[in-house]
Amino acid sequence: MRQSRTFIPTLRESPADAEIASHRLLVRAGYLRKVASGIYEFLPLGARVVQRISRIIREEMNAAGAQEVILPIMQPRELWEESGRWAKYGPEMMRLKDRAGRDFGLGPTHEEVITDLVRSNVSSWRDLPLNLYQIGTKFRDEVRPRFGLLRAREFLMKDAYSFDRDEEGMRISYRTMYEAYGRIFTRCGCTWRAVEAATGLIGGDVSHEFMVPAEVGEDHIVLCDSCSYSANVELASYRRTKPPEGDGKPMERVSTPGRRTIEEVSGYLGLEPRRMIKCLMYLVEGRPVAVLVPGDREANEVKLARVLGTDEFRLFNEADWRGHPGYLQGFVGPVGLDAAEVIADESLRGAGGLACGANEADYHLVNVEEGRDFRADRFADVTSARTGDPCPRCGEPMRVEAGIEVGQVFQLGLKYSEAMRCYYHDEKGEARPMYMGCYGIGVTRLMAAVVEQHHDERGIIWPLSVAPAFLHILALDYQREGRRKAAEDLYRDCLRRGWDVLLDDREESAGVKFADADLLGIPFRAVIGRGYDEDGTLELQERATGQRARLSPEDLFRRLEEARESFRDLAERGDL
Ligand SMILES: [Zn+2]
Repeated sequence: MRQSRTFIPTLRESPADAEIASHRLLVRAGYLRKVASGIYEFLPLGARVVQRISRIIREEMNAAGAQEVILPIMQPRELWEESGRWAKYGPEMMRLKDRAGRDFGLGPTHEEVITDLVRSNVSSWRDLPLNLYQIGTKFRDEVRPRFGLLRAREFLMKDAYSFDRDEEGMRISYRTMYEAYGRIFTRCGCTWRAVEAATGLIGGDVSHEFMVPAEVGEDHIVLCDSCSYSANVELASYRRTKPPEGDGKPMERVSTPGRRTIEEVSGYLGLEPRRMIKCLMYLVEGRPVAVLVPGDREANEVKLARVLGTDEFRLFNEADWRGHPGYLQGFVGPVGLDAAEVIADESLRGAGGLACGANEADYHLVNVEEGRDFRADRFADVTSARTGDPCPRCGEPMRVEAGIEVGQVFQLGLKYSEAMRCYYHDEKGEARPMYMGCYGIGVTRLMAAVVEQHHDERGIIWPLSVAPAFLHILALDYQREGRRKAAEDLYRDCLRRGWDVLLDDREESAGVKFADADLLGIPFRAVIGRGYDEDGTLELQERATGQRARLSPEDLFRRLEEARESFRDLAERGDL
């Protein structure tokens, strides 16, 4: 590529809506442009990076026995009715009508389409296992698109779907994908970790997310460094420590005029927040349910959904409070409470010396003991773990880390195959549902995650594997005949070797060229400047380390060949 003829519109200023490094740098360096909120264009260098990442994914998917297909983004309503997700998916699925008035959705995911394809065309146990994947556009109408490619509405995703004869087969397919995922993220230059995850709208029982640790990540992972337990905070459990104790005194009613929040009441009563019972009123499928958590904890609604067995619930809104005048907002408490169900967090089991609302305006109760003064219908894990909480496996303190979710794998089991009758005939001719798994990688999100892990204040630092080019040739004072010729010779030699190189053949100042090169982030740089005039040497610079060496053209090629070789070896061994 000649820089003078390549469309790389760099910007001096960051876009106003860019809050994080990957968004800022990818736009400034001319990889990316925004069309509308959460919808982006990939310019030539950006498209190259996407292709490099896609190639790594294809190699690993093919090696793992998956076969590539291309599936449509427009999907008929009927298929989504069969799985029950037309109603369930909500406004995140973009819906539209064709000219005949038929309903379609833009695929946010492809379980329905692929299950339909397989049930119509696979009928024998001999055809299984089968794993099909695609790299294609997805559309999800996010409420709040932000962070550039991290939370976009239109994005590129790799999704794979496995079909097996039984549960054991599904587990093997899952394991194979899990391992391929690790190699993919490693080859893309990311440090990553796989953590236990919730299954959400996709469904199924077992799931892992692949997280790239990054401060800007919107996901939070709970980790134990002692035993390697790790899970998304939505799911992570923690060992409860000894609950607060009472001193046997009887329960007492105290006046707390105008104090409603945990902070106000605990401050007024001089009690630690963990001794306060937060009594949260939820409307669960139309019934009022009370959820009790310690005053210093938040309820975790992903855990709550599991405990309730439904995701049709919400915290009381203003209308719900008005509709249930028996509950006094700000003073509701578990003692004498009339609710359809009372669910308490595990940490309140056997707790005493507590305070809670008295179900009476401007009054609270103190010296409250669980078991003596109130009873929960159920104890459950409904609060989130946080830094310092004991590990559920080994009891050592855990920590919380932010990360970007770049992939997720699911054991779907029979969820879609039973709903959509995706059956095969076994050796005896009996019809059985197929066991499915599904496996996603956010390709364009992965590109942003790579930048989050590889940049400095001057620009991007691409890992060799996904860089848009391998070498950036900078001839300073390009108009000088000798330097121009040296640059052109080097450029031609690189092309002959089949390398991707970018030749900065613009008549710009050295300052502009270096600043742009730092911003673009190509791993190696060959500078043709004063050294060349003196003794014919070029300066080889490494973007990541800043290392420089003056080399003859022959030595420069030898060094670059070595770099490529060692990189290839690492990629093959999976060490990168
Ligand atoms: Zn542990």
